Amino acid sequence: MEKARVKGLSLARRLYTSRTLGLALGLLCVGAAMHPLNPAPWVWVVMLLNAVVWPHLAYQWARRAPVPYHAEYRNLLVDAFFGGFWVAAMQFNPLPSAVTISMMAMNNVAIGGLRFLLVATVAQILGVGVGLLIFAPAFIPETSQFQLYACLPLLCFYPLALGWICFRQAYTLGQHKRELLALSRTDSLTGLLNHGAWKDQLEIEFQRCQRQRRGGAIALIDIDHFKTINDTYGHVAGDIVLRQLSKMLKQNLRAADLAGRYGGDEFCVILPDLPLSSAAAAMDSLRDRFATLGYEQNPALKVSLSIGIAAFDPGHADATLWLNDADHALYEAKTTGRNRVICSSDSRPHHELLDSV
Ligand code: GH3
Ligand code: MG
Repeated sequence: MEKARVKGLSLARRLYTSRTLGLALGLLCVGAAMHPLNPAPWVWVVMLLNAVVWPHLAYQWARRAPVPYHAEYRNLLVDAFFGGFWVAAMQFNPLPSAVTISMMAMNNVAIGGLRFLLVATVAQILGVGVGLLIFAPAFIPETSQFQLYACLPLLCFYPLALGWICFRQAYTLGQHKRELLALSRTDSLTGLLNHGAWKDQLEIEFQRCQRQRRGGAIALIDIDHFKTINDTYGHVAGDIVLRQLSKMLKQNLRAADLAGRYGGDEFCVILPDLPLSSAAAAMDSLRDRFATLGYEQNPALKVSLSIGIAAFDPGHADATLWLNDADHALYEAKTTGRNRVICSSDSRPHHELLDSV
């Protein structure tokens, strides 16, 4: 309900601007058409009230309404009714009548689409009917030069203002769309790519490696005994560990590397153009640094990582097989003692490999 109110209020504000401008310029146009007809003083009063007082009244009405959106719907129908009324009062003088009707149609279709245009047209016809009942039905076939010039400000400035309002709305909408897209690709706890977004990047990287015949590596990182950490120190402490790891990933990876949260306590990294040995060295230093990290709230807490790495293999039919390799390496790291980096297709921890070189 609150969301609908905010939406309605922003529509009311938008309409306040366009209504104030449109009716002020419309006063020139209608006034010039009415002047030669010598209308009664009350007609001038109604015209002034409609042009000058009504926009403010309509805005306050909508602002105070429980559902501003509905109030504005009604206000627009009042606009349409009076549009029709003035067309009949002007005795269908061609140019002022056409300008009045077309400007209102432009406004109504921009706000409510064709359906609302139809409803507003009915209100307009009703306004014409009431106008015909009050004023003697007549038709003026020609628009004078003075009347033509009086219509020009409405004709020139109103579409400009409405176009600008629509542009700003489209721009804001575009911005919201970009923000939503970024949000839908981000893991809310860590700010890293989420599962789906990272998988998309993996697919792109796989195809790039295939196309350009270049190497690259991926790493799956899993926190050791994370359930015990949650159970011992609480889930808040667990969340801090997850955030700490994502912070370390952001700080220690190259700009081209893509880190994501695969799910739960599992993280994933794409390391483009990096040979397996360099990727293993980078991940081992990350593992090492993370293991020595201290936590302010829980000084006794020490957290280790198990990491599985797999290099791109041109023999892989798809990216899933590449991921499987890293998964197997991670499994190996878990089953051979944890707190280690294992590369796919070797079963020795990375530091032992380095020692043997
Ligand atoms: P292993 O060493 O074999 O990896 O064991 P583990 O305890 O780390 O792994 P397990 O899969 O048994 O437990 C992962 C836990 O992570 C279970 C789940 O409650 C916890 N978890 C998942 N997402 C979150 C989260 O966003 N925050 C916190 N605090 N815990 C989470
Ligand atoms: Mg774990």
